[in-house]
Amino acid sequence: MSNPLLASSDRELLDRIDQLLREPAQRDNPLHAPLSQLKVYSEEQQERLERLIRISDGFHTMSRSESLTLTEQYDKQIRRLEKLARISDRYQNSLRELSEALKEAALRDPLTGLGNRRFLMERLKEETHRAQRKQAPYALGILDVDHFKSVNDRFGHEMGDKVLCEIGRAIQSALREYDLCGRWGGEEFLILLPETPAEFATQVAMRVCDAIRQLSVPLGDGELPKISASLGLTQYRSEESFSSTLNRADTALLRAKSNGRNQVQTA
Ligand code: GH3
Ligand code: MG
Ligand code: MG
Repeated sequence: MSNPLLASSDRELLDRIDQLLREPAQRDNPLHAPLSQLKVYSEEQQERLERLIRISDGFHTMSRSESLTLTEQYDKQIRRLEKLARISDRYQNSLRELSEALKEAALRDPLTGLGNRRFLMERLKEETHRAQRKQAPYALGILDVDHFKSVNDRFGHEMGDKVLCEIGRAIQSALREYDLCGRWGGEEFLILLPETPAEFATQVAMRVCDAIRQLSVPLGDGELPKISASLGLTQYRSEESFSSTLNRADTALLRAKSNGRNQVQTA
């Protein structure tokens, strides 16, 4: 069988040597023996070469398949990492949403949906800083529903809750977009009117009380009697703490109550 590793000229040379060695006339030639050895040597070298090539081919195939599996493993790891990153992103998002919801819930009154006392205190602090910075005082009002105890007594606590929600809505509807209202506690609400001069603030406060007077809350068989509120109003005064402003609004509210309720008093 012809050797595929040999060039055709080499093959011809070997065939020629083979022929010469077979010729009886050459048998006694002194070169016959060394040439025969050389031929055997050449054939052995060919075989070694072939073995080496086979081993080298084997290595090549092995390293190719090894590098393939490495690439596959690398891709798999990348996919796992991407999946982990997606899970971590989702987890972080839901944590963020949860903490936002908790923060929101901590500042909101669950009955009326308005800001609660904590929220109002935060906003009061902010507005006080702003008023000091801009020399533009805010107006502050405390509103207390008149004789609310009798609403509960006559119609039940559940109906009382419903009325409180309606009052919250009525107050909000009477305010301007940038005004603020929250539940201060019980049947008391706080209104905060940023950068508002006293005369405007009084107008807004009157509008709020009107909206409450006009409330009609349907009962099972009829309608709730008219309700009213008393409101104490004041202005933030330069350099004072907001608790001084709050106390003044409270004093004005007491005056509104003692003066017959259903009115706005300023201090
Ligand atoms: P005044 O005109 O002097 O303010 O009379 P008032 O009856 O409104 O005042 P008082 O302080 O005597 O009573 C407040 C009532 O508000 C009693 C309380 O049960 C009721 N109240 C406070 N918070 C709630 C609430 O969340 N739901 C209901 N239904 N009632 C509440
Ligand atoms: Mg009260
Ligand atoms: Mg009251």
